[in-house]
Amino acid sequence: MRAVGIMCGVTLLAAVHAGIAAADEATDPIGKGAETLPIFDAHIHYKALAWGPYPPATVLDLMDKNGVAMGLVSSTPDQGTITLWKFAPKRIVPELRPYHGVYGSSNWTKSPEMADYLENRLDAYPHEGIGEFHVRSFDPEDEPLLRQVAAMAKKRNIYIHIHSGKDPVDLLYSFEPGLKIIWAHAGMSEPPDVIEAMMARYDTLYADTSYREWDILGNGTGIDPDWRRVLERFSDRFMVGTDTWVNSQWESYAELIAANRQWLSHFPRPLAEKFAYKNAERLFGREVSKALIGTR
Ligand SMILES: [Zn+2]
Repeated sequence: MRAVGIMCGVTLLAAVHAGIAAADEATDPIGKGAETLPIFDAHIHYKALAWGPYPPATVLDLMDKNGVAMGLVSSTPDQGTITLWKFAPKRIVPELRPYHGVYGSSNWTKSPEMADYLENRLDAYPHEGIGEFHVRSFDPEDEPLLRQVAAMAKKRNIYIHIHSGKDPVDLLYSFEPGLKIIWAHAGMSEPPDVIEAMMARYDTLYADTSYREWDILGNGTGIDPDWRRVLERFSDRFMVGTDTWVNSQWESYAELIAANRQWLSHFPRPLAEKFAYKNAERLFGREVSKALIGTR
């Protein structure tokens, strides 16, 4: 009898402890726990200038060392993405960047063969998005191509990854309601209230937070209260990222991932996990875990 009584007491104590731990985890900042979360880096580029100094094995090594289990990769030209994906198919989600040859961020919409190029590449490889591409200011002459690009993404049920302000995102949704859009850098310079209104308006709008780490961190004051409101309200829509658009970003890769972990540390575990990798798991139908580190 006595032994049973003690056992019940121990079980009860364990249950109470578990209950307290769960309650705390749901509300307390994850803190140092953010340092060991697996990361899905939603904004990687593997451009031609990186291929020499950062061969695929070196890129994977950087991901491994920084706890980056998987990443969304687009490159100028697309060959970089395919090289990396073939090297490590379990770790790389490929998306198709339009830029190639003489066509880059400022003039890709002017290429007469762009639509054919995109269709051919999408037929040849399992890209899960079109982007990241820039639309700086909308030229009405570009409308036919942008309509085609939106239709291509919709038909194939893949993402558009666009670097732009608010207006080009509205434009793409006017062409194809229900399009799945990843808003690069959450609009880069759009303020939290604009991001919030856009997320409220479009159910299928997501964002990567690359280049916004410092904004989110309130320029060093903690978490900016407006960012906190938007991130909490739309916690299913944001993914962290680094944006390795120049080699200096690869050089700083450890610091960039650390900055992401720093802002994640201010959120409770369930939210930090969503931003770090769980939203990406859902969006791309992958399992992202630390078990992937060291694999290809
Ligand atoms: Zn980028």
